[in-house]
Amino acid sequence: MTDHDHPPLGIDLGTTHSLVAVFESDGPRVLEHDVGSFLVPSEVAIDDEDHLLVGAPARTVRLRRPDRGLARFKPDMGQSTSMPLGDTVLTPTTASALILKELKEVAEARLGFPVHRAVISVPAWFREPQRKATLDAGRFAGFEVQRLINEPTAAALAHGLHVDGDLRRVAVLDLGGGTFDVTVLELFDGIVDVRSSVGDVHLGGEDVTDAIVAWLNQRTTALSIDPATLARRRRRAERAKRLLSGQASVSIDLPDEDGGSVPLDQQTLEQLCAPLLQRMRSLVSQALVQAATTARDIDQVVLVGGAVRMPVVRQFARRMFEQEPLPLGEVDQLVALGAAVQAALVDGHEALRERLVTDVLTHSLGVSAVQSWADQHYQDRFVPLLGRGTTLPASKAERFSTLHHQQNEVVLEVFEGERRVASDNHLLGTLSVPVPTHDDAEARESLEVRFTHDVSGLLEVEATVLSTDERSAVVIERGGQTYDEQARLDVQAQLARLKVHPRQLLPNRWLLERATTVVEHLAGPARDELDQMLLAFEAALDGGDMERIEQWRVPLSARVGELEALLQLDLPS
Ligand code: AMP
Repeated sequence: MTDHDHPPLGIDLGTTHSLVAVFESDGPRVLEHDVGSFLVPSEVAIDDEDHLLVGAPARTVRLRRPDRGLARFKPDMGQSTSMPLGDTVLTPTTASALILKELKEVAEARLGFPVHRAVISVPAWFREPQRKATLDAGRFAGFEVQRLINEPTAAALAHGLHVDGDLRRVAVLDLGGGTFDVTVLELFDGIVDVRSSVGDVHLGGEDVTDAIVAWLNQRTTALSIDPATLARRRRRAERAKRLLSGQASVSIDLPDEDGGSVPLDQQTLEQLCAPLLQRMRSLVSQALVQAATTARDIDQVVLVGGAVRMPVVRQFARRMFEQEPLPLGEVDQLVALGAAVQAALVDGHEALRERLVTDVLTHSLGVSAVQSWADQHYQDRFVPLLGRGTTLPASKAERFSTLHHQQNEVVLEVFEGERRVASDNHLLGTLSVPVPTHDDAEARESLEVRFTHDVSGLLEVEATVLSTDERSAVVIERGGQTYDEQARLDVQAQLARLKVHPRQLLPNRWLLERATTVVEHLAGPARDELDQMLLAFEAALDGGDMERIEQWRVPLSARVGELEALLQLDLPS
């Protein structure tokens, strides 16, 4: 089979976890990285021997040794933040590359053949540098990145909303652990148009957990709470929050408070969430205003992200839009599934042929210019040529004139953004256009400036001096390479130098880490018992006899699982 027989992978590169999906003859499917586990924590860490760990084992290490792990680096994509890890230093981009590489390996292991191409999701509000960084991360991981897809667009595709021919307005509410995004999309005959997208990177399910912890703290008598107690309390609050997604009330044990326990019901949770819901309401209103629409004009509401499982969030959406949101489905998987649909579309998959999905601009593109009003001149004004929400491909021209008769050059600065002051936006590039000078003090030259943007991210800026028909042009590869070939090879070599565990040994390493964490939380005979099992397992690993390793691995894994649940140590995310 050639590579082209397989559609590219659809990847949800998330802040807290990532997933990989593939489109098959019966539709998209998320691939497991372990039995029953689809979510790969977006984390990297190093163990005591400086071996690099990625995903679940990395998370286990970081929870125990925060100094040896890295997490939540996606929001910093595009920045050159240095993140030391053992002997090496990673950036958010190279750390993301390791996650993508892991997903590539997971997919190859599951599918049984090598894959090279991928469609990767990004938040709709990601700007150019963050998008470029995501593309670079994909390349470092060995992918040919076919397209980036906006997360809300992916969620709509996963619901099959692009298939119908009628115009539909869709609001996508994505409430993750630490971020809330609202996007208004318009879908028409296979075209997906982002009308608006607003987000808050400091609002999410974790805030609900924090609110429960603060509420618990108020109800306890202790004057000060030590960090270990606080961490335990947070785990219990998180567990209670999740349980309340399926039942009316829970009881939270507070063993540090003389064995007391506190009841928490839906109504109290709703009160605790009120300030957060208020912030969500204002963001939804903002997105509706920007899309020039109202809640009543929204035809469908899509909920995405782990925290929308909370009934209070569903109720919020129901009230705000006066309609029932679409059934939840696999809220964690929607984006990856949609990315796989997009991957198949890019690839011209048989089942999806004829279903074109175009891209749209999520930020305006324009130039800086001097604007005049009532004899006053205003410098550095942003004049958008292709507005936010423009369906791609697109081409549009505007006329400009020179400022004075002896001007021999016009320097067009191309910006991306929405701010009225051009230099407050993101500078994409410049084009210098020679123009003829004049003796007549009143004479001016006119220029036609044209922006042409294709679906693959190429922006061509052309300027034609009308009096001479002289044309100057520049092509800006948006989402293009920020690293030159040598730099890319250097980064790949740096990543390759990291000592990665052989895949077959990873489950054992992970079990060792988990068991070590559990032992540290135990005392007395229970600790001794587990310590002995752990020693036996370590000895078996050192011996290298697979049968013996398996003999010890199975009971140890079962016991560790039981104890983790009892101690409420590491909740699956
Ligand atoms: P994400 O970033 O999409 O993984 O979102 C994770 C967030 O969803 C975290 O804040 C979790 O606590 C929250 N979450 C996951 N499952 C549930 C559940 N069943 N009920 C309430 N919140 C949940």
